[in-house]
Amino acid sequence: MKDHSPGYKADLNIIGPAAFPLKAGFSAVTITPEVPDRWTDADGNAEYDPKDGDTFTDGNGNGKFDPVWIAGFGNRRAANGVHDDLWARTMVIDDGRTRLAIVVLDAIGLMNNEVIDIRNNIPTHAGVTYSIVVTTHTHEGPDLLGLWGKTPIKSGVDKEYVKYLKSQVVESVVTAVKNMKPAILKISEDMTGAVSLVRDTRMPEVFDSGLRIIRAIDRGNGNTLGSLIVWADHPETLWGKNLLITSDFPHYLREGVEKGVYDGDKMAKPGTGGIAIYLNGAIGGLMTTHPTLAIRDPFTGEEFTEPSFKKAEAQGKQLAMLVLNAMDNPLEEIDSAGISVIVRTLSLPIDNKMFKLGTLLGIFNRGTSGWMKMRSEISVFKVGPVSFATLPGEVYPEIINGGIEALEGRDFPVDPVEVPPVRDMMTGKYRFVIGLANDEIGYIIPKSAWDEKAPYTYGREESPYGEENSLGPETAPILHRNLKEMLGELERL
Ligand SMILES: [Zn+2]
Repeated sequence: MKDHSPGYKADLNIIGPAAFPLKAGFSAVTITPEVPDRWTDADGNAEYDPKDGDTFTDGNGNGKFDPVWIAGFGNRRAANGVHDDLWARTMVIDDGRTRLAIVVLDAIGLMNNEVIDIRNNIPTHAGVTYSIVVTTHTHEGPDLLGLWGKTPIKSGVDKEYVKYLKSQVVESVVTAVKNMKPAILKISEDMTGAVSLVRDTRMPEVFDSGLRIIRAIDRGNGNTLGSLIVWADHPETLWGKNLLITSDFPHYLREGVEKGVYDGDKMAKPGTGGIAIYLNGAIGGLMTTHPTLAIRDPFTGEEFTEPSFKKAEAQGKQLAMLVLNAMDNPLEEIDSAGISVIVRTLSLPIDNKMFKLGTLLGIFNRGTSGWMKMRSEISVFKVGPVSFATLPGEVYPEIINGGIEALEGRDFPVDPVEVPPVRDMMTGKYRFVIGLANDEIGYIIPKSAWDEKAPYTYGREESPYGEENSLGPETAPILHRNLKEMLGELERL
């Protein structure tokens, strides 16, 4: 219950120069957990039978059952192998005065106290002004939040793995700094191409399905240093029965962008080289490639509905083709710009009964920043004509893109509170919103859509899914109010 980082504030208020030559650097460092194959059963089956208890038998003898618990979906999903590596991938951007590091991990989420720990371990010589530590929210990687252990009241977090993960993240930042080169940023967008690859499982139907892309080119030799790609979808196309560690569709997307997209053995579209990094935008409310949504292989036309690696691959290939095609026609090239940054540390009330319990029981090992309050963080920054806003969890797209409802049956008799939409308050020509940044506080739900108590909106018989995984109804109003002030300030800088 104590504060893990007493007095910590990430607050910044930096005014960038009008224009200055930019540098960029990238890195990719693995964070794959060790998944002992001895956790397969005597017959070589990958399923863990919980009736075996803490000891189990394998081909080589007994062992204490101490598996990597996979996060997302239900409890008791013991990893039984690795399909593809998990990564900490970093883009560093520098205007000669301010150096930003954007690190994204293939992970379910990382709590703010762990992010603070990582920052404290980034060596001073790396010269990083502000690091943004983001997770993709893959539902096929290790538990980092404590929710997916053997039982709901047993944390699934392996402390040794967290230690390893944090040192790899630091390594990723340091390497990206070493790799910095004078750079040209090419901005591309595809606002419509990827709509069919994601479903919205909670009304109203509002998406954040535009693809936004920054490709960094080495000014010296014209090679691609790397690219940053933002879209919004839960990386859970593999769904809840997969027991192999994987970053899900982002794996195939990144591979396709870097190395080319293949139609069988034939390259259909060459890749850019460099290091591709994938970030999620507004994935709340709930952006997912649901098992009922069919995904088509872009070349064979074969349709995949049931969750499988083939389906995640088809999705990744489609996304990679869209990204590469958009990169062929950049909207703007930036070789000099000033970086402006505003960061605020916030103390958010914990209203959710289960979160209170989790905090009291220590299942959420993040400490508190006051009585039933947790420290979290938001930031806004600008690199020339490109605006960014970061949010600490899974924000409902209505808050970002507009369309918040206030329907009969809602719990609070209020009009939409989180207006205007965040993206409308941003003024850059290109507007990147990054979710799960520097924290994972759960769903960020419009207050006027909060719907725990009967009667329910849309004539529902029961409460919709979402509120049980949110800090509370005041979370979105607090975040929106702060973002509004910060974006106003950013524009005055
Ligand atoms: Zn989620």
